[in-house]
Amino acid sequence: MEQAILVLNAGSSSLKFSVFAIAETGELRAVAVGQVEGLGTAPRLRVKDGDGQRIADEQWDKAAVGSHAQALQRVADLLRARYPGGTLAGVGHRVVHGGPDYSAPLRISPSAMAALEAFIPLAPLHQPHNLAAIRAVQEVQPDLPQVACFDTAFHRTQETVGQFYGLPYEYYERGIRRYGFHGLSYEYVAATLPHVAPEIAGGRVVVAHLGSGASMCALHGGRSVGSSMGFTALDGLMMGTRPGNMDPGIVLYLLQQEGLSAQQIEDLLYKRSGLLGLSGVGNDMRVLLASDSPRAALAIDYFVYRINRELGALAAVLGGLDALVFTAGIGENSARIRQLVCRQARWLGIELDDEANETGAPCISRPGSRASAWVVPTNEELMIARHTRELLAL
Ligand code: AMP
Repeated sequence: MEQAILVLNAGSSSLKFSVFAIAETGELRAVAVGQVEGLGTAPRLRVKDGDGQRIADEQWDKAAVGSHAQALQRVADLLRARYPGGTLAGVGHRVVHGGPDYSAPLRISPSAMAALEAFIPLAPLHQPHNLAAIRAVQEVQPDLPQVACFDTAFHRTQETVGQFYGLPYEYYERGIRRYGFHGLSYEYVAATLPHVAPEIAGGRVVVAHLGSGASMCALHGGRSVGSSMGFTALDGLMMGTRPGNMDPGIVLYLLQQEGLSAQQIEDLLYKRSGLLGLSGVGNDMRVLLASDSPRAALAIDYFVYRINRELGALAAVLGGLDALVFTAGIGENSARIRQLVCRQARWLGIELDDEANETGAPCISRPGSRASAWVVPTNEELMIARHTRELLAL
């Protein structure tokens, strides 16, 4: 194999990775995609090649593989054995928080690490794991160049006023502001639109990233001008296990009247709410759509209702709407959810083409529809690999 870029996305108990080969032309081709899940409990590695064929599926002893560093070592051994001639030229990391200033990826250095550590309080559930993966690579290959790609960076083009909360000004200065997330996904979609939908790429577009995490982003001429997510990835749409936008008074009520601890509230908001909590059936949209439980139907209704409300808000930020784009697991795969959303968005001029919607064709609105609707698959890993290649001049 030629030179390659490794892309890492480290979570609390998981390590997702992709390997991209760099062709002579500079083109990036995925040759392996995998993940280690269950770190700390029942670690399991699953890897597929670039064609989706399974390369590995291994259960590991949790005593032997308990950390990101140990998991990474095993993954590196497997990849070396599989691609003996390959050279790793750089590593790109998904790092959730780039703070108020980073609007582009950053090459890792001691001073960059210190800056990224300062953002840990802003994303305590994710940032430490992202940084642990960087350190794990440094331990085994200190000279390998590494790049941090931020989920917040793409939104730094937003107008300052949209980044405020109505708190005393000093809280803004202390970092309590709207950052927005899923930026790598939106950046990928924005970069793809000129190729698949040139007629809308320069216009007013709302992208709905509907996955297990879900958010929406207003793009004007391919730049982010608004996002449904704010200070943390809890805000905005309802998600698989997160409630989305809610009155902050609820948190006070839970603390003061119901006596919940901060830890219990964190668990409630990150793990037990959303589609899971409302339906009582599960957090997987496929399961909810197949269920005949009335609460599954309620959870779907609320999911769609929140999308419609955010769509209205983002169309207001844009001063109108030229197109709505669906992406991520639910957005790319569920014709039913797209249909429900587009029906509610008729007032914005979206007329769904049911047949095109069923096939998931890039354009799913009728010809002549005042605002169009699209399905554009996202690829955050490829976005990270592109940034890494560019920043390291590979
Ligand atoms: P992601 O986080 O982008 O990987 O998306 C994961 C979510 O996509 C899960 O909640 C899945 O239920 C959902 N999903 C994947 N395929 C489908 C489908 N065909 N219909 C509905 N939801 C789907």
